Amino acid sequence: MGGQAGIMKSEIHKLIIIGSGPAGLTAALYAARANLNPLVIGGLTFGGQLMITTEVENFPGFPKGVQGPELMQAMIEQAERFGAKIIYDDATKVDFSHKPFKVSAGHEDHMAESVIIATGASSLWLGLPSEERLRGKGVSSCATCDGFFFKGKEVAVIGGGDAALEEALYLTKFATKVTVLNRSDKLRASKIMQDRALANPKIGVLYNKTVEEFLGADYLTGLRIKDAVSGQTEELPAGGTFVAIGHKPNTEIFKGQITLDAKGYIEPTDQTKTNVAGIFVAGDVRDYRYRQAVTAAGMGCMAALDAEKYLHMDQG
Ligand code: NDP
Repeated sequence: MGGQAGIMKSEIHKLIIIGSGPAGLTAALYAARANLNPLVIGGLTFGGQLMITTEVENFPGFPKGVQGPELMQAMIEQAERFGAKIIYDDATKVDFSHKPFKVSAGHEDHMAESVIIATGASSLWLGLPSEERLRGKGVSSCATCDGFFFKGKEVAVIGGGDAALEEALYLTKFATKVTVLNRSDKLRASKIMQDRALANPKIGVLYNKTVEEFLGADYLTGLRIKDAVSGQTEELPAGGTFVAIGHKPNTEIFKGQITLDAKGYIEPTDQTKTNVAGIFVAGDVRDYRYRQAVTAAGMGCMAALDAEKYLHMDQG
């Protein structure tokens, strides 16, 4: 294989990493330091979910916090320093049916002996213009990231699933009151989460409520909510609001190429391995439980080490 690999070297990468959030860039750093010369398909909106976060206070090593985009820029520079190459195009198509694997991005097809998928997940939003305008200004999708900023305030959580109640419980550490807004008359969350949340004196649930508008000029001050049964609207004061109506894994292009679970997340077979030998996975695209920058980064490291081991094995 050595001779052929030598001839094809300029065309066939050892490793392509799809995604440039903490998982992808940590994988790139480790792979670059292992001399795998990884190619990172970073996406048009590179950097992942931290690019739409303001201050990150829970990434170890930054005692004073760090701005999300600044952290991602530092990760890019660190990976590039060791030889990772990043292109800012979206991956639009993959072919994992045979080797070398093919990843199409922009107008080009890129080939590789191995691939790490780190395309992340996107928070679902209600889609209101006022929500978009006030995102990062009192409107958030991550209590673990932003909850601390709402110390001493009344906050709202939109959604009634496990994630919403988990966010609500977490927020009780900081907020004086947490109002959960559920669109139907029944919470979707598991019984245990419901019991826990409903037992907390700081948490109140309003049923049959939909949000019509996020209020506030420069910063969120409250919500205009509508009762689905009576049709009446009212204003709910809120210094912060967390939208927790679910996440969507970014796996559209992998359908039919790799095993996805019922919710569309990539299902690993063992740690970072997938059902296709040579294809690895890291970060939120496979993890709906922890969803933290630091856990994603940890998985990126694991995926790079696993890819390195795979590439150095006799692949038959
Ligand atoms: P879910 O899909 O379970 O719940 C989404 C919630 O948002 C539902 O209450 C849903 O309402 C509501 N919703 C959806 N769209 C809208 C909308 N447009 N407007 C208002 N409300 C809306 O997602 P989660 O993120 O909560 O959980 C995802 C998965 O992760 C689940 O399997 C969950 O069990 C798991 N998880 C587990 C945790 C744990 O074990 N501790 C913690 C977090 C997540 P409706 O019911 O009416 O559709």
